[in-house]
Amino acid sequence: MGLFNILTANVACPICAESARFDNIQFRYGHTRQIRFGIGDTLIWNGNNVGQPGRSCLFVPGIGGPCPHCQTTYVYFIIKIVHDKIEEVTPTADDPGDDLAN
Ligand SMILES: [Zn+2]
Repeated sequence: MGLFNILTANVACPICAESARFDNIQFRYGHTRQIRFGIGDTLIWNGNNVGQPGRSCLFVPGIGGPCPHCQTTYVYFIIKIVHDKIEEVTPTADDPGDDLAN
């Protein structure tokens, strides 16, 4: 079973464009152990690491949902991480897949 972390963010749903609080955006980066983060938080590095500490800038896929407005089950996001800080979350209509962390 894959471990992940959880991000809470107020963002527009990529499907219906309504702003919503997504409190269960799953992503895999840093020490992954279902740790809860918000925008502006700094990742933790411990033993169960995905990725590399201290990267200057990278983008990681996230998945949340359902949207409280349109009930879309899976809502996709792209999470921008700058020097281990969660800087920004952008909604995306397409599944960004697993290969954004390069
Ligand atoms: Zn929606």
